[in-house]
Amino acid sequence: MDRKTKYYRQTKIVITLGPATESPECLAKLIAAGVDIIRLNMAHATREWVEEVVGRIRRVSQESERQVAVMMDVKGPEIRTGDVEKPLELDVGDLLDFHAESAEVMNDGVPSVSVNYAKLSQDVDVGQIILVDSGLLRFKVLARDEERIRCEVLTSGTLGSRRHINLPGVQVDLPALTEKDEADLKAGVAAGIDFVALSFVRQAEDVQTLRKFLDENGSIAKIVSKIEEQAGVRNMEDIIRASDAIMVARGDLGIEIDYHQLPLVQTELVRACQAEGKPVIIATHLLESMIHSPIPTRAEISDVSNAVREQADAVMLSGETTTGAYPLECVEVFKNIIQSIEPTVHGQLNSQIQLREPKAKMLRSAAVLAQELGQSAIVVFTRSGFLAYVLGALRPYGVPIYAFTDVESIFRQLLLPWGVEPFLMEFSEDPEQTILDSLDVLKQKQWCAPGTWVVVITNALANKKVIDTMQLREVE
Ligand code: PGA
Ligand code: MN
Repeated sequence: MDRKTKYYRQTKIVITLGPATESPECLAKLIAAGVDIIRLNMAHATREWVEEVVGRIRRVSQESERQVAVMMDVKGPEIRTGDVEKPLELDVGDLLDFHAESAEVMNDGVPSVSVNYAKLSQDVDVGQIILVDSGLLRFKVLARDEERIRCEVLTSGTLGSRRHINLPGVQVDLPALTEKDEADLKAGVAAGIDFVALSFVRQAEDVQTLRKFLDENGSIAKIVSKIEEQAGVRNMEDIIRASDAIMVARGDLGIEIDYHQLPLVQTELVRACQAEGKPVIIATHLLESMIHSPIPTRAEISDVSNAVREQADAVMLSGETTTGAYPLECVEVFKNIIQSIEPTVHGQLNSQIQLREPKAKMLRSAAVLAQELGQSAIVVFTRSGFLAYVLGALRPYGVPIYAFTDVESIFRQLLLPWGVEPFLMEFSEDPEQTILDSLDVLKQKQWCAPGTWVVVITNALANKKVIDTMQLREVE
């Protein structure tokens, strides 16, 4: 049987929006190229920008007839330097002070940069190494008082505004959700964001704090917990259970833990997510060299392939698409690698996942049946998204999961899980009519050729009772 194939990709693509990509023209190209989720990094964004670009993304999506989800990335307990008038050129052996925002700057000729964390000087020891700007700049603490630390520059480089400071192993005494995060989130909720990524999640309670805040503000945005420091790694199982999805935030993680442990922790996180049936995003440095180069390094090609082989739900771009010179090329590179690697991954269903409800167990049978049929697909109707998330987590290689929902926000949230292709459609009172409508959509949009047998997960009426069913249907 010949399925008139629209190219079907199971691994999803997340990009971060920035000056290089925020124009309507570029957005339209990226959306047409197949981006699934757009991340707004609040380290570098204002609330006005959020309102404007979310509106722009929705408009461009409408015009392109292809939807994307929006993820707001709030910074959580992240320590950052303040603004500098102009970038500081630092040489080995130079002195530099970091002071609390409330502190007065000493006029003794040593340049001083503010830090958004008042307790920095209490949390570091003399002799300790401090890493700034993804570890590019290294400092040794020479002295400290209540409000400032004096450091010696160990590696030369340039210190710009709002650079991130890593203190590996230190439990930073900042709340999971800062005042800035709350203000950012209110703007995001008003603009209609679909996902919130929470930075530096240390424990499950951090996720619950965010969940409560979103509930109180009337948002059903899904929570993506970023694992990027040691406590997050230690508490991964509880965090995964409390979250809707996980991001392996390798930028910070690679500094906060020994860099050579990073691949092990990545694999551990991906496996733990699959056991819980939660989506996982691999982030940062996947195509870093393409910020300046039109082609990836061989090592980057391997890294992206590895993420696809590990069966991650999504791969993400950061600097490549915020300020990089080749954002579209990056998306094409992702697509090409995914297209080459996905068909070569073994097709066994996820055996780790615990399916608790009878209806969830039925999904495994549906996946087995669809794989057995070959050239098939699963059609599922969902109002909460749950069934589609579980189906994706089962990893039915070769079987598209067509998820129909009548809830717009859920529809966009279905853009994250592996293998799920979502459709927004009105549901009829009559379940049978809904099925016929969905099969019609699949045929009209050329996802399924006439004659294709699909497995349908739906409700049916029997003696006026609603029952869960799995049906074998042919696309007419
Ligand atoms: P960031 O998070 O880009 O917000 O720092 C991702 C990472 O640390 O990898
Ligand atoms: Mn980070």
